Amino acid sequence: MNTHIPKIGIVSLGCPKALVDSERILTRLRAEGYEISPSYEGADAVIVNTCGFIDSAKQESFDAIGEALTENGKVIVTGCLGVDEDGIREVHPGVLAVSGPHQYESVMEAVHQASPPLHNPHMDLIPAEGIKLTPRHYAYLKISEGCNQTCTFCIIPSMRGKLRSRPAGEVLKEAENLALSGVKEILLVSQDTGAYGSDLRYEESDFYGKSVRTKMYDLCNALGDQKVWTRLHYVYPYPHVDDVIPLMAEGKILPYLDIPFQHASPRILKLMKRPGNQIELLERIKKWREICPDITIRSTFVVGFPGETEEDFEYLLDWLEKAQLDRVGCFKYEAVEGAAANDLPDPVDEEIKEQRWNRLMEFQRQISDEKMQAKIGKVFDVIIDEVDEEGAVGRTKGDAPEIDGEVYINGELDLKPGDIVKVKAEHAEDYDIWGSLVDA
Ligand code: SF4
Repeated sequence: MNTHIPKIGIVSLGCPKALVDSERILTRLRAEGYEISPSYEGADAVIVNTCGFIDSAKQESFDAIGEALTENGKVIVTGCLGVDEDGIREVHPGVLAVSGPHQYESVMEAVHQASPPLHNPHMDLIPAEGIKLTPRHYAYLKISEGCNQTCTFCIIPSMRGKLRSRPAGEVLKEAENLALSGVKEILLVSQDTGAYGSDLRYEESDFYGKSVRTKMYDLCNALGDQKVWTRLHYVYPYPHVDDVIPLMAEGKILPYLDIPFQHASPRILKLMKRPGNQIELLERIKKWREICPDITIRSTFVVGFPGETEEDFEYLLDWLEKAQLDRVGCFKYEAVEGAAANDLPDPVDEEIKEQRWNRLMEFQRQISDEKMQAKIGKVFDVIIDEVDEEGAVGRTKGDAPEIDGEVYINGELDLKPGDIVKVKAEHAEDYDIWGSLVDA
């Protein structure tokens, strides 16, 4: 009788959405009795979940495949880069199988061929919340896949297809399972969170006999009843985003909005095929802050988009000054194979892109600095992420894991990950805060 328990390694690259795919694959592997190998050594095969968004991410994925081939030899490639099977096989002819994003069946088929499962009913038992790659106290929850927008710099819609939302009842059930397993914070992710449910015409779905519409507002409202922190990521600036701000003010979801604006100049936004009225947007941001003064707005921008002039760039800086955003990420435009923007005239010189990136980051740093200094003396709810020999490290409601700031509470060794405590800010630097515990 074969008693070898097959072990599979997994290398997960890319964004939180890819991480959710990896979690689903891990859940399937565990459900079928596979063990997860933490290293190349001893793994019967290695799955590399790739990212193909921009050239540097592609390179990282190619390198990861190469490393897995050298270290292990049996490599199954999946994820966004997998749509270019020929390109992968050209560089790495030794890979066992290649599949695109969220093709869990193909991945499992390749795993079965590389190392058949050992049937053991006891090992088939997996926790209801699945397997998570994130620490136990927070989890990413994917609410939809694909995107109906046509932003010219992006190839996600051609890679991941049109929007396909999960019914609200299904998402709420998964959120409940996560909460029951000890998750305290849920990060809603998708390619376009604001469009959630539009493909299903916002149909009603059942959650314990209650009817819930498959729509961002209704989902957020229902998640608010589950008493976990709910954080919204990748929200396209649709007008109906305004509807969820009162839910933030009521404390039903976190007062945090990750809303990539990409640019401010109407001319560039038009070339990007993004909504163009940034003046109206300034008004909306003002209203959001009136309704929910604690709101943290995070956004990302692209500089050096084809055709961007000095005037467009200065317009963006001027807009940032007025918008006073809390967190800003910035990318230098990189041509992505297959993107419509590649055909636009007037590419921006690499040196100018670099200069604009530095100017924007420095400009925003001053805005953020002032905002951070204004936090000193205030008390924040902080969720603890880790505790080491120096003390506890956590995040406020305005900080998403890995991309935003942290709160250091030195000397507090008795806290544990997932605890939510009150902390008075005493010192702030860059995006981080140092503080001490205060009584709840
Ligand atoms: S909304 Fe996001 S995912 Fe959709 S096309 Fe635009 S950038 Fe790409």
